[in-house]
Amino acid sequence: MVADKPADSSKESKEHLDMLKSTQTVIKKALDKLGYPEEAYELLREPVRFMTVRIPVRMDDGQIKVFTGYRAQHNDAVGPTKGGVRFHPDVNEKEVSALSIWMSLKAGIVDLPYGGGKGGIVCDPREMSFRELEGLSRGYVRAISQIVGPTKDIPAPDVFTNSQIMAWMMDEYSRIDEFNNPGFITGKPLVLGGSHGRDTATAKGVTICVEEAAKLRGIDLNGARVIIQGFGNAGGFLSKFMNDAGAKVVAISDAQGALYDPDGLDIDYLLDRRDSFGTVTNLFENTISNDEMLELDCDILVPAAIANQITEENANRIKANIVVEAANGPTTLEATKILAERDILLVPDVLASSGGVTVSYFEWVQNNQGYYWTEEEVQEKLQKVIVKSFHNVYDTSQTRNIDMRLAAYMVGVRKMAEAARFRGWI
Ligand code: GLU
Repeated sequence: MVADKPADSSKESKEHLDMLKSTQTVIKKALDKLGYPEEAYELLREPVRFMTVRIPVRMDDGQIKVFTGYRAQHNDAVGPTKGGVRFHPDVNEKEVSALSIWMSLKAGIVDLPYGGGKGGIVCDPREMSFRELEGLSRGYVRAISQIVGPTKDIPAPDVFTNSQIMAWMMDEYSRIDEFNNPGFITGKPLVLGGSHGRDTATAKGVTICVEEAAKLRGIDLNGARVIIQGFGNAGGFLSKFMNDAGAKVVAISDAQGALYDPDGLDIDYLLDRRDSFGTVTNLFENTISNDEMLELDCDILVPAAIANQITEENANRIKANIVVEAANGPTTLEATKILAERDILLVPDVLASSGGVTVSYFEWVQNNQGYYWTEEEVQEKLQKVIVKSFHNVYDTSQTRNIDMRLAAYMVGVRKMAEAARFRGWI
């Protein structure tokens, strides 16, 4: 029997602690500005429920390996909690907690009848076989089955999880429930009750935010120079949508490095060559580092990979006119301030990356109704929701004279605080 090592290298734990702390700082500011008392912050600064589970899986070599998993439910005043499950070696409690709070904010910003949830398993799916991943996915659902369900908490894909993993999880939950229950999880394959447009939804949401931000700054997307950090689900589809809109994608990157061409990269070729974890730069020799790429000249920069990429170290050297956060937490609070002082328009993660959960909501509604929509219906509804939410946040930032992150938190937290007050919780 072997045990996995939960990630606790001091750098990673500190980063995740900082992530949680900075989220709490902005939640506090947002509640203060909305006039809510200290009790509201006390309730909302941590998840109301947090479960840690141990998941035994028989590996291909015959040994049992025990994995650690988490599920955080931030707040269910508005409705059931909702959010993805990530499979990653760096997953830890602080990160999952912060991410569950962000899911509450996203649901508030796009006005969904949900609170936020998030899950994670400490593992490296890049080193696991299909069979081992199936065992882990099913084991996780058995371990958390008491606290999840279509009216309690609805999981979805996140970093390194996909529709196949959602299918195994849905099947396991349905076996426990003794009937087919597609509404337990979203991001499923179409044949199992998935929704059209769910796979591209996060990138579509980011694209709509890029378009609206470009209009505000008088930038024509046709010919605009765009840099995209990350070439996974969000970054990959986004580079395609930007390319299709006539923008020049001058740089892209993955965990190994970055590719740069001032005349624009051949996106279709790169998408064709990348592996299932979004890696492509290892096929090339003339690469630059991710840090170098962030500071290149461009009109629009989209960090679509991991947290803490734009910090007080490099914020003064960012040359973009607009930064749209497709990843969760790519810009620190210090850097947010610097970018605002430099009049760079920052569209925050909780708004820009809300397309995924929006179409997940559409999927859940379709599952509940047993009536399925066309691709066009989904796209039309998504467009309306994101455009409205973008302007709601932007207008709040203008009337209150605050940055778009604080404005997004104010919009995101308001409904939850109000619901908690009506219920008599605060
Ligand atoms: N994991 C995605 C997110 O962070 C999607 C969540 C969902 O679809 O429920 O927004």
